Amino acid sequence: MFSEKFVLSDRVLQVAPSPTLAVNAKAKALRAAGADILNFSVGEPDMPTPAHVCAAGKKAIEEGRTRYTPAAGIPELREAVCAKLKQEHGWEYKPEEVQISCGGKHGLFNIFQAVLNPGDEVLIPAPYWVSYPPMVQLAGGTPVIVPLQQDRQFDIDPAVVARYVTSKTKAIVLNSPSNPTGAVYSLAALAEVAKMAYEGGWLVVSDDMYEELYYGEGKVPHILHADPRLKDQTVLSNGVSKAFAMTGWRIGYSIGPREVIRAMNKIQSQSTSNPAAPSQYAALAALTGPQDFPHQMREAFLPRRAFFVESLESIPGVSCVAPMGAFYVFPNFSAYYGKKFKGTAIDGSVALADYFLDEAQVASVPGAAFGADDFIRFSFATSLTTIERGMERIKQALAALQ
Ligand SMILES: *Cc1c(COP(=O)(O)O)cnc(C)c1O
Repeated sequence: MFSEKFVLSDRVLQVAPSPTLAVNAKAKALRAAGADILNFSVGEPDMPTPAHVCAAGKKAIEEGRTRYTPAAGIPELREAVCAKLKQEHGWEYKPEEVQISCGGKHGLFNIFQAVLNPGDEVLIPAPYWVSYPPMVQLAGGTPVIVPLQQDRQFDIDPAVVARYVTSKTKAIVLNSPSNPTGAVYSLAALAEVAKMAYEGGWLVVSDDMYEELYYGEGKVPHILHADPRLKDQTVLSNGVSKAFAMTGWRIGYSIGPREVIRAMNKIQSQSTSNPAAPSQYAALAALTGPQDFPHQMREAFLPRRAFFVESLESIPGVSCVAPMGAFYVFPNFSAYYGKKFKGTAIDGSVALADYFLDEAQVASVPGAAFGADDFIRFSFATSLTTIERGMERIKQALAALQ
């Protein structure tokens, strides 16, 4: 008989599979069975990859750029990342301080594998992106969850961070704009966190995946602008998946101290060797070609965001912070917990998301997946018509609870 304990590692037994992918799979199965499912669970832009980027990928294949590349990625792409950081932020980095990975997710995985020892603690503000805690655990570290408050617009709170610091604190993960809340941390709060990180010698892992999708004025506040002294202890994580609608191409990039990048390259050389060569050339076209795509995407998202927030806020008992970035709304439904449908109590976000899927044919992601059970995440990377229809169904479903 198969014995999990005997066959599988302790490391893998302590983590769960990605809950967002699970909801998506259930929604797809229901749709395949003929149900009219409105899907708000997806975490990717609904636009196709820009044509010039696709063309660059095809050209790379036609020209035979289909072999192994350096483990760190092709030099041209690493140089393009440096040029982008210089142009957009004024930061000076060299190509040897850049790693190209198989998506931003894989870059983060490499970072944690490269820096964590058993017992090292990593501060993770919650609501958090689903993959941070399991990635830290798979690297032998201990995730330490730092709760953020809805009534502070989910801004990072230095006083709360301070409460979770111990002698074992090794790193802090920042994600602004955030998935799932859409929150953007304020420069003032970042400056205080930066001071703690600098004095404590922690590594800052800044997941900047949504920096191009910011609904405020000017540039997104960033910890390296709040305190440039942190440059030598910060690793930036980014990629083309969200900004250029390239989720399936699997290209991300990490930028940081040369020693950390070198260690990450060692891991990559012994695991994936390198990201797919044609995808790297496509990403090069994305970073060096016309930059209007993220801007157009942002313009397309604005009316959807406005409608979503307004209609959620109009539902009795529901509150929703307007997201300042990314493409998610994260409303609080806790006023409905404890109510019943056909005698069965809705006892939290998992039960409510299941209820929305079964009774309203609306797919969403329960906040429990992000460490925040009062909430549910809806993606607005879908048409305004879908959002309008979805909101009607959600309102009806909530009104049917007793
Ligand atoms: C989507 C996402 C990523 C990584 O995306 P990849 O598809 O792996 O490039 C990283 N962080 C956050 C917060 C995300 O939402």
